[in-house]
Amino acid sequence: MTKSNATKKRIVFCDFDGTITINDNIIAIIKHFNPEGWERIAERTIATELTIQDGVGQLFRLLPSSLRDEVVSYGVNNVRIRDGFAEFLSYCKEQNIEFYVTSGGIDFFVYPTLEPFDIPRDHIYCNSSDFSGERIEILWPHPCDEHCHNHCGMCKTTIMRRFPEDQYERIIIGDSVTDFEGAKLADRVYSRSHLTVKCRELGLAHTEFDTFHDIIAAMADEERK
Ligand SMILES: [Mg+2]
Ligand SMILES: [Zn+2]
Repeated sequence: MTKSNATKKRIVFCDFDGTITINDNIIAIIKHFNPEGWERIAERTIATELTIQDGVGQLFRLLPSSLRDEVVSYGVNNVRIRDGFAEFLSYCKEQNIEFYVTSGGIDFFVYPTLEPFDIPRDHIYCNSSDFSGERIEILWPHPCDEHCHNHCGMCKTTIMRRFPEDQYERIIIGDSVTDFEGAKLADRVYSRSHLTVKCRELGLAHTEFDTFHDIIAAMADEERK
């Protein structure tokens, strides 16, 4: 038996790169350090010849761990937060909406970037990193469950499935094709960029946004219905 949305707890799953931040941080970092051969790996990942997990793992393996300080500070200092993010977090608190970050990004830039926003650490899902070997190794603490075979690395749908649809109204916010599987599970989708295109192509209901102010306005509208 499904409960009506009115009695369900609202929960937001929010992407990080290109959503909370303006830029795509993994590509920005790799581009900046420009290790030999990164373009080919990036192309093959975009073309889905490599899984996200393989592609991202291989990209970082091109960088020596000795670059740690430079990589971390580049990652942290080049982030720009999308307008309205702090206000959106306040709106969620006020409205008693649970807020989770579901990011395919890496711990060393995700956590420091989110530090000023007072989000509980266990509400932030991302990949982690190991600088103890010769080369940077990405670790994958949140892999795909038995329902997902995409080798996401950080599997957004696996996280979403822990919040069952009979108890939660699941809301996803994202910008890229990697958010699409989550969008299919969600009750509501706020999209920009490639995710909007993909939703249009496949006829999935979505609301476009540019800033988090747009999302607050759209959600407030939704609550008035
Ligand atoms: Mg993204
Ligand atoms: Zn997955």
